[in-house]
Amino acid sequence: MSGPATSGIEITAKKMTVGAGAKLSHAVIKAVGAGLGGVEHLVGIPGTVGGAVVGNASSDGRDIGSVVESVTVLERSGELRTLNQEQAGFSHRKSSLVGLAILSVTFDLESADVTALTKRMQKLWIGRNASRPSEEPRIAMPFVEPDEMSVSDLLHQVGLAGVREGEVSIDTQHPQFLIARSGATSEQCMKLIERVREQVLLQTGIDLQLDLQIW
Ligand SMILES: Cc1cc2nc3c(=O)[nH]c(=O)nc-3n(C[C@H](O)[C@H](O)[C@H](O)COP(=O)(O)OP(=O)(O)OC[C@H]3O[C@@H](n4cnc5c(N)ncnc54)[C@H](O)[C@@H]3O)c2cc1C
Repeated sequence: MSGPATSGIEITAKKMTVGAGAKLSHAVIKAVGAGLGGVEHLVGIPGTVGGAVVGNASSDGRDIGSVVESVTVLERSGELRTLNQEQAGFSHRKSSLVGLAILSVTFDLESADVTALTKRMQKLWIGRNASRPSEEPRIAMPFVEPDEMSVSDLLHQVGLAGVREGEVSIDTQHPQFLIARSGATSEQCMKLIERVREQVLLQTGIDLQLDLQIW
């Protein structure tokens, strides 16, 4: 998907069409540079536009689906189909696009002042980096934010910040992140996640939901 046919970024007036294999960060920077607002809050979320749209990535209280106009997908039959926002079925960190191959996405953005947008993007980028373990290359946010309180506050409160299973740990400062160091195994990840879920349930009654796909 990172090949030229499925990773280009084109902007016409307020519409931005992006190949699903393009990096989300590239699309965000391109939109901001063109004076188009609506995706700048997604700055710093790793991955591709396809991945972000399937999982309806969100940040700062706004999800990517809210600015999607249409999604072109390749169906299992080999046919191309263009789905509108409603058909894409966006809900919290979800879409109905699972199982389809997304080829491109068209966003309907808002005209905005480039300098103001750039400032906003930089501010969000700095804030995001400050709230994320910096030196770690393999990190994930395994849990859905519960309604009651943030995962970070919850894990601090129940004393699970910093817990470790082999080479996998919950970050001490920002416990919403799971860190896998060199030599970590999937078994260690699963064990630690289960341990955290169990402890949280026992101590608070909150049933943490997974925000990971495990196969
Ligand atoms: C450090 C860190 C911070 C993060 N912060 C946030 C955040 O603030 N907000 C947030 O919402 N998310 C956040 N995430 C999660 C992030 O949204 C996803 O990891 C990312 O969007 C996945 O994109 P990807 O290209 O890596 O997809 P992958 O991980 O490769 O795939 C994810 C899923 O999408 C499917 N998929 C990918 N591309 C396509 C395609 N073209 N067509 C069909 N299916 C496809 C895959 O099959 C898979 O099921 C964070 C993740 C990390 C690691």
